Amino acid sequence: MSELPRSRYDWTRADLAELLADQPRYRVDQVWQGLHDHGTEPDDWSNVPKALRARVAEALPPALERAAESVSDDGETVKWLWSLADGRQVESVLMHYPDRTTVCVSSQAGCAMACGFCATGQAGFDRHLTTGEIVEQVVRARRRSAEAGKRLSNIVFMGMGEPFANYDRTWEAVHRIHDDLGIGARHLTLSTVGIVPGIRRLAEADLPVNLAVSLHVANDAERDELVPINRRYPLDVLAEACADYVEATHRRLSFEWALIDGTNDTDRHADELAAYARPLRAHVNLIPLNPTPGYPVRGTPPDRVRAFARRLEDLGVNATVRRTRGTDIDAACGQLRASHAGGPTAVDSPTRR
Ligand code: SAH
Repeated sequence: MSELPRSRYDWTRADLAELLADQPRYRVDQVWQGLHDHGTEPDDWSNVPKALRARVAEALPPALERAAESVSDDGETVKWLWSLADGRQVESVLMHYPDRTTVCVSSQAGCAMACGFCATGQAGFDRHLTTGEIVEQVVRARRRSAEAGKRLSNIVFMGMGEPFANYDRTWEAVHRIHDDLGIGARHLTLSTVGIVPGIRRLAEADLPVNLAVSLHVANDAERDELVPINRRYPLDVLAEACADYVEATHRRLSFEWALIDGTNDTDRHADELAAYARPLRAHVNLIPLNPTPGYPVRGTPPDRVRAFARRLEDLGVNATVRRTRGTDIDAACGQLRASHAGGPTAVDSPTRR
């Protein structure tokens, strides 16, 4: 990691004040506001002298270069493929809903968790992202949202990577997003495949962010296959960590469940999930699987999704069915990068604002 240059959003306010020690304090404030409140390029700061803008642009290079962008047909979903300073690539997805705007960010380039149904897992692990690389994804998305007249309200760490395998940099990014970008902790969600030490650390953490656990199967034999990290942190150990987390934080836990046709969508699977989720009072988010090239199984058809959700409700578990977003733009985790592997770094569909 040490070979990576410090990028724009790795800088703290104190770092910036030190860099600009020869400037009046209000100039430091202007630069900080340009970077954080507006998320614009130094070139855009008409209130800052040109020479100072040039100095900041030179000292604080952006971490992300846009390699591709796609916009869904309805314009409500925007997906970016970013190239990093060392050529690695990650994705973020911006989603507008009637009541909120959410960005899904990556915490690692690639992922080592090897979930077979996930495009990122199929491609393997490249490296951890730096704090600046994570925060800049949010800044870029917020800027784009503002241009569309919408306020970015929610951040979910459900892009590429496993946030708890990169805990320290991710947590620092959470703090920057909260402290410097002003997004409330309850609007931030960390999603984990079930890394128990991470759940335990989060229970002690100083910001009340939300926790989602990607469960997908609630018996060890099948989860060992679908989510290999289950062999290291089996379901009873995971449940204990979740129970302690809920007790320590009094926050609502959610389970993510990608419904895979004929694989984890039967009545028996719903019964197992209900038995697992009920004592934890967990909320279940159901989403039909987005098929990926390395796992060409289709998502559960709509009538079975409804039956599965109804069964959970009958068993006393709250469940929400999520709509797949951006299927037309390869918006499932890791898919945009996969479809661009080796290809030209063109912008797919130019800005549709
Ligand atoms: N590693 C973390 C966060 C990234 S994955 C985690 O596992 O939670 C974000 C979510 O997308 C997880 O719930 C993951 O299981 C889900 N996911 C991955 N591939 C998917 C696919 N092809 N279709 C639907 N959901 C998928």
